[in-house]
Amino acid sequence: MRRNDSFGITRKRFLAAGLSAAAILPARTLAQPASLQRAPARLVPVKLDAGRVIRIVVGLRPYRRTGFVLRADHLGDKLLVHNYGHGGGGFSLSWGCAAMAADLVADRSPQRAAVLGCGVIGLTTARTLQDRGWTVTIYAAHTPPDTTSNIAGAQWTPTTVFASDAASTEFLETFRRASQTANRAFQLMVGPAYGVRWIDTYALKHVASDRDEIDYALSAGIEDLYADVETIAPSSTPFATPLVRRFTTMQIAPNTFLPAVERDFFVRGGRIVVRTFTDAAAIASLDEAVVFNCTGLGSRTLFGDTELEPVRGQLSILEPQSDVDYAYVAEGLYMFPRDDGIVLGGTFQHGNASLAPDLATQRRILAEHAALYRTRT
Ligand SMILES: Cc1cc2nc3c(=O)[nH]c(=O)nc-3n(C[C@H](O)[C@H](O)[C@H](O)COP(=O)(O)OP(=O)(O)OC[C@H]3O[C@@H](n4cnc5c(N)ncnc54)[C@H](O)[C@@H]3O)c2cc1C
Repeated sequence: MRRNDSFGITRKRFLAAGLSAAAILPARTLAQPASLQRAPARLVPVKLDAGRVIRIVVGLRPYRRTGFVLRADHLGDKLLVHNYGHGGGGFSLSWGCAAMAADLVADRSPQRAAVLGCGVIGLTTARTLQDRGWTVTIYAAHTPPDTTSNIAGAQWTPTTVFASDAASTEFLETFRRASQTANRAFQLMVGPAYGVRWIDTYALKHVASDRDEIDYALSAGIEDLYADVETIAPSSTPFATPLVRRFTTMQIAPNTFLPAVERDFFVRGGRIVVRTFTDAAAIASLDEAVVFNCTGLGSRTLFGDTELEPVRGQLSILEPQSDVDYAYVAEGLYMFPRDDGIVLGGTFQHGNASLAPDLATQRRILAEHAALYRTRT
């Protein structure tokens, strides 16, 4: 299944929504003059034999058509700040949403706070609060490596976050601010310590009307967060699609990043309590007067958010291939090379909460990825 309507509004609608033209004009020119174009890169095709699959993983993106929830509320006498529902862009948005969640309690003097959830949203929220002087305890049913966040791709591309026909103008402004703050934060974490690196990514399309990551970014006003955007002659690549565009973004290795942030949290005196909450009343009985809800999909049951739905993603992980040093995204398919394996996506199955790997889907994913290459090794 292809990723559908889940990111963008049109540029026209963005302008009609009253946001300034300056806000959406690209900071970089999207088409580079020929003299500035880079020499073609050596793009070694991924070896896509079924025998190279080392594991299949499934994760459920916590998706809401109108976008993530970031607001302050009350639960009994507690201040409750929601920060959940980031769909397929939770990594990309994490530090930005964490900063904005912390801003919602900026008028209080820092004290003790509870953060519910230990995925990327809970961890980044907890770390941000510590930096602002709060003493934080994380309460979570599961901790890394057993969270949805550990399954993520995780490329810096905040897509499948909202439906273009459902998101409000106010949400889109929040989305843009969160994207900008998070992108800057990840830039400052590039390196092996946090498992963040820059990577050339090829956006492959069969027809011009299909939307690639840059089209989505343009429609949401965050295209300036992608570097070095350039249209490439398909003949200079191994790809079979007639339209190829390259951009540079960051890739995050969840199994490096999440433990690193967890360590930082402990170093600053943070505490993690493994605990499952069955309802909001159990949360109301916590000692902390300020609570941040970062439970992802768990918010559906805990807070009765029926708009929140799982979007199932199944990934096939191939044996690492050190000569593959680029990524691609192609109309819902994607390939991210990591030290722990070549990540092949994707599926975007709305409303499907099955965590069981599906072998027919795996065969389809491998075949569709193979069809993207004109030449093979
Ligand atoms: C296949 C796939 C690929 C993805 N690729 C990307 C990508 O390339 N880039 C990107 O930015 N994002 C990507 N994502 C999205 C990203 O993974 C999610 O948006 C993000 O992980 C959500 O983080 P979270 O912390 O809200 O949720 P989780 O990681 O699910 O964490 C939720 C936490 O809340 C706890 N919790 C829940 N309910 C309860 C309860 N009742 N009691 C106690 N604790 C509870 C859980 O135990 C857990 O600790 C991808 C997701 C998937 C599935």
